[in-house]
Amino acid sequence: MKLYNTLTRQKEEFKPINDDTVSIYTCGPTVYQYAHIGNMRAYIFMDILRRVLKYNGYHLKNVMNITDVGHLVSDSDEGEDKMVKTSRQTQKSPWEIAEYYTGIFMNDLQELNIGKPEYIPKATEHIAEMLEFVEGLVDKGYAYETSDGIYFDIMKFEGYGKLSGLDLEGQIAGARVDVNEEKRHPADFALWKKAPKEHIMQWPSRWGMGYPGWHIECSAMGRKYLGDEFDIHTGGVDHIPVHHENEIAQSEALLGKPAVHYWLHGEFLLVDNGKMSKSLGTTYTVADLKEKGFSPLAYRYMCLNANYRSKLNFTWDGLKAAQTALDRLLEGVLAHKTADPQVRIDEGTIKGFETEFEAAINDDLNIPRAMGVAWNAARYGTKSQELYKLLLKMDSIFGLDFEKAQAKADESAPDISPEIQELVNLRQQARKDKNWKQADEIRDKLSQMGITVEDTPQGPKVVFKDSK
Ligand code: AMP
Ligand code: ZN
Repeated sequence: MKLYNTLTRQKEEFKPINDDTVSIYTCGPTVYQYAHIGNMRAYIFMDILRRVLKYNGYHLKNVMNITDVGHLVSDSDEGEDKMVKTSRQTQKSPWEIAEYYTGIFMNDLQELNIGKPEYIPKATEHIAEMLEFVEGLVDKGYAYETSDGIYFDIMKFEGYGKLSGLDLEGQIAGARVDVNEEKRHPADFALWKKAPKEHIMQWPSRWGMGYPGWHIECSAMGRKYLGDEFDIHTGGVDHIPVHHENEIAQSEALLGKPAVHYWLHGEFLLVDNGKMSKSLGTTYTVADLKEKGFSPLAYRYMCLNANYRSKLNFTWDGLKAAQTALDRLLEGVLAHKTADPQVRIDEGTIKGFETEFEAAINDDLNIPRAMGVAWNAARYGTKSQELYKLLLKMDSIFGLDFEKAQAKADESAPDISPEIQELVNLRQQARKDKNWKQADEIRDKLSQMGITVEDTPQGPKVVFKDSK
């Protein structure tokens, strides 16, 4: 299988360190507010990667951290810690806030059929590992102390900028005007911050009380659970120029070799062709989609129809179209599910679909192309259970609940009173129990009421005699 490596800027054949288990680190959410659907796109991408690797027979060791300390309002070490800021605004402790938003995030993952990573460590529970990392960097001469913290000295690390391809001038131009005159270089970044007395989250260290920088969290937790070297690191494209550049610098400086073999980045979700914006009210959440009557899986379907390396523009009309398309696809799946089991189609046709599908998913997770194959299979003229089986296999990648496909309630169906419904249910049960006598009696009773029951593949259908 091929994956596009941001570091080498090309699709590469994926060769894991270990033959049967793939190790992955995914930058997790900062849990100070609701995750928006853009954040969730990043985790749908993680999920697709997980599913494709599993399809190829690999076991997974995937870490996704929960950032509950250290992520400052600005990525360039300025401003307040996001958790602390929300805590101040809401009068709740950072721990309460983290617990609340982590719970909602986990629920969102479930609603979008996103598989849970094997390890979900919290930053606040790994301060010791982070301190060990920082101490190592200081001891090796890659970091220095200032009056407000410990900073990484990027001039000491030769490869700084190699992930984003920005030279140092570019990095500096991109950084905000720096206010910290003690830093040796404007792009030097905080590994550890000294905490003023009133700072809510703080831990003891060699340098007094303090708290970790955001970038060190991922390096320290990745190392703890996956070892010094691991296969894949994922995140959104916004992480390339600062967060991941810094992760590379600190890990490689400490370990003397690259920690990550493949860097994978998911592109952004836009709303109405722009950045999601709080002030415009466009930072939608999964709950917002549901409130408007959409299924979270319609959003998942929308994401699957764009390549993970392309921008995707969200509009409500687009979501409506995705919902309609998904419903149609499920109807196609259902036609195969309910097909006569005797019907066979030639093996070559099935194999052809399967081969095309596998080529697509293994070509740097080309899910839109794979979806095209699924559509062709779903619309295939001859309906057969074999194709249904193949569609279910494809759905192990899509995660769109194909096996739950069922006929939509017939809108022209008559209103049925609870009394009739109960008789219909009783008859169903009697048939299940092979109690034919009772089933017939109930049928007769219904018939006297002017009702017949037709048995369809979707279950019993009530028909009023005079409406026929
Ligand atoms: P954060 O909670 O801000 O650390 O972000 C969690 C994940 O969401 C990261 O991988 C970001 O790169 C990603 N992300 C943030 N905004 C968007 C967006 N609009 N579209 C796609 N991914 C995003
Ligand atoms: Zn990270």
